[in-house]
Amino acid sequence: MIKVLKFGGTSVGSAENMCKVAQVIKDEGSKVTVLSAMSETTNGLVKICSLASKGNVDVETIDYLKTKYSICATTILKNPSSAIAMVDATYVYISEQAATYTANSNLNILAQGELLTTAIFTLYLNEQGVKAELLHVPDSMHSLEDGYVDLAHLSATLGARVKASSADTIFITQGFICTNYKGELDNLGRGGSDYSAALIGEAIGADEVQIWTDIDGMHNNDPRYVEGTYPIRKMSFTQAAELAYFGAKILHPATILPCQRNSINVRLKNTLEPSAAGTLISNEANVDSQFCAIAAKDDITVVRICSARMLMAYGFLRKVFEVFEAHKTPIDMITTSEVAVSITIDNTDHLDSIIADLNPFGNVSCDSNNTIVCVVGHIPPEEAGVNSSVFSSISDVPVKMISYGASSHSIAFLINSDNKIETLRKLNTSLFKSK
Ligand code: ADP
Ligand code: ASP
Ligand code: MG
Repeated sequence: MIKVLKFGGTSVGSAENMCKVAQVIKDEGSKVTVLSAMSETTNGLVKICSLASKGNVDVETIDYLKTKYSICATTILKNPSSAIAMVDATYVYISEQAATYTANSNLNILAQGELLTTAIFTLYLNEQGVKAELLHVPDSMHSLEDGYVDLAHLSATLGARVKASSADTIFITQGFICTNYKGELDNLGRGGSDYSAALIGEAIGADEVQIWTDIDGMHNNDPRYVEGTYPIRKMSFTQAAELAYFGAKILHPATILPCQRNSINVRLKNTLEPSAAGTLISNEANVDSQFCAIAAKDDITVVRICSARMLMAYGFLRKVFEVFEAHKTPIDMITTSEVAVSITIDNTDHLDSIIADLNPFGNVSCDSNNTIVCVVGHIPPEEAGVNSSVFSSISDVPVKMISYGASSHSIAFLINSDNKIETLRKLNTSLFKSK
């Protein structure tokens, strides 16, 4: 079985954890391993960039990260000299980029974590006698102008090299980073290493993509806010996509599509407890119970357009949607009445222009600080009682919008973000109390 394994920040966050990763790679027989930056790195690099954009060099964070990587290299390697030289050079480079900051420095700085982790880890595997090769993923992962990745190029380069390799050769490469259509170093967005692994899985014709993290699979609710959550053993691509899209941080939402279109199973596993079963995501839906899991997505803004012109008219919604399309702003949820339409978005970069373009259609208002809560499961709209099961326990929480009936596997609704934790906890008790 050909496997791509991806390890997140915690999994490679210390020398001790990197040793665990090496063991998992051997046990699983990983062909290509995708690594994130060590935990805290990307947040630290974002902070360095933010201060640099205001003309300051964040010496404290630079020193902190440099020390973290140096300690890791000296702990894990018998001969750390080349790795230490690389760490030193990287942090000199980051300091220089911060001191002469441009938009491009931001991209260059953010890429350094993944580049360092993979370099140190490959040296470690080589010292252990493993035939591991380091692949520089920006040579193969090229993002196009529309944001998609050039799969043909990825397959022709990285894919071809991996396929032509000997059975005992394994590959280590960076998640998250890529080259953009302008030829600059860039990235696939925060949490994007999962997506890198899925694309690489597709390019090499993998049978399975494994996402190794710090928890034993997809839980039925957000463990950061709710106590007593439990892992779900299996779910369909569609169920997982809904949960990932609506806030289950364990999986980047873009991970699903490359795997689903190639029927590549996705397994979510815990590096800190490799024997735990984790979650298997495949074509098979979870029908164990009506409700499978809940996720929540914050920072949602509602754009509401009220217009008498909508009454009995056709083509009105198309014109409204075209405004969002023109500003490259995806829509999450929509509800309509005969004279009004409410649309939710999470990207407000172009909100002012969107409002300006919508104004000719009617009265436009906005409402921010909202959260979409999504309940996923086996929920055919023709079944009676679904709404009351979901909403009865949160009857005191104002629900601003509801999306139901579009699919048989989810029901989503919008609340004020201040009510999120209370809502997740109450739903946990009412929908999953039997576990
Ligand atoms: P990594 O750095 O390995 O990519 P992430 O922090 O991106 O890890 O994702 C793992 C985290 O996702 C967990 O520690 C957990 O707090 C959070 N999480 C949020 N929702 C869920 C969920 N439904 N199931 C499991 N983990 C979740
Ligand atoms: N290191 C990147 C981040 O923290 C990518 C990832 O971990 O997936 O966002
Ligand atoms: Mg992640």
